[in-house]
Amino acid sequence: MNITITKTTTPKAKPDESALGFGKIFTDHMFMMDYNKATGWTNARIVPFENLSIHPASTVLHYGSEIFEGLKAYRRADGKVQLFRPIENIRRMNRSAERLCLPEIPEEDALEALLKFVEVEQDWTPSSEGTSLYLRPFLFGNDESLGVHAVSNATFIIIASPVGSYYPEGINPVKIMIEDEDVRAVKGGTGYAKCGGNYAASNRAGERAAQQGYSQVLWLDGVHRKYIEEVGAMNVMFKIDGEIVTPMLSGSILPGITRMSCLEVLRNEGYNVSERLISIDELEEAMESGKLEEAWGCGTAAVISPIGELCYKGKKYAVNNGEIGETTQHLYDTLTGIQWGKVEDKFGWIVKL
Ligand SMILES: *Cc1c(COP(=O)(O)O)cnc(C)c1O
Repeated sequence: MNITITKTTTPKAKPDESALGFGKIFTDHMFMMDYNKATGWTNARIVPFENLSIHPASTVLHYGSEIFEGLKAYRRADGKVQLFRPIENIRRMNRSAERLCLPEIPEEDALEALLKFVEVEQDWTPSSEGTSLYLRPFLFGNDESLGVHAVSNATFIIIASPVGSYYPEGINPVKIMIEDEDVRAVKGGTGYAKCGGNYAASNRAGERAAQQGYSQVLWLDGVHRKYIEEVGAMNVMFKIDGEIVTPMLSGSILPGITRMSCLEVLRNEGYNVSERLISIDELEEAMESGKLEEAWGCGTAAVISPIGELCYKGKKYAVNNGEIGETTQHLYDTLTGIQWGKVEDKFGWIVKL
């Protein structure tokens, strides 16, 4: 693939690494590529970061045909930059594209685009503990007409944002509200696709939970409101009576790359792990009887997020006294260790620039 590069003539000053936050600061450039049904993907380019100009009838503005990915570039102690399992993000993006009738991108082209872009922007990768360069590829339908159908035109973009440590004051267990009214997705819908629309539909429950002091919601399945699905932007795992359980990929939950990596690490070390249905009744029973030993969320942003409290129908349950558990800590140390190059990558997950 031929990628043209136009460098900015007005590079920005690099930000103060102690005040990065999440997704507020953007780098100097972005990757862009255009799709048309007749010509395929063309005009791959890295250009100065700037506002987009799109037609007011553009498909994405009316019918939500948008998918995205999220991954990070990490700076190692030797100063070099590396990515964690980027091919998995590309494969998932293509599965999301298929579900939303958006054009797929050949894996090798998408990987080349990502690596080239990170190479151009690598100086923006911060080096303080826990910081990284967050990469946001996204793809949207961009026909200039109001007809409802699969698009003939689409745009693919990658932007990057230096982000701070998720835990600037050390790992803090989060409080999670189990949502029994709104649902996020159903089998046959778009739950397994990483699409913006899923987030639009989940904001209301998230806001309600936030008003009561909870940081995210735990979704139940959309049909019975009985089986555990996932947390806002993370998959969820529990340690119940020695067994590590996580909801199986049923079609309505997002197949997280952190989830997959946790399972591989745990299985490799001989833990008793199962992917299966977990009902809210089973979880309540485990919480009442003290068999729920640990609970955590897993996703690219926080990597591993210990859950210290769960609330269901107004009843509050502390998990592990509100403290991080042993398995949760072990997963956090192992995954972040591999990502920042401090722990040997036995799995072949790291892609160096
Ligand atoms: C992105 C995402 C996750 C986590 O996926 P990772 O690949 O681990 O970052 C989990 N749930 C939802 C809804 C997501 O959008």
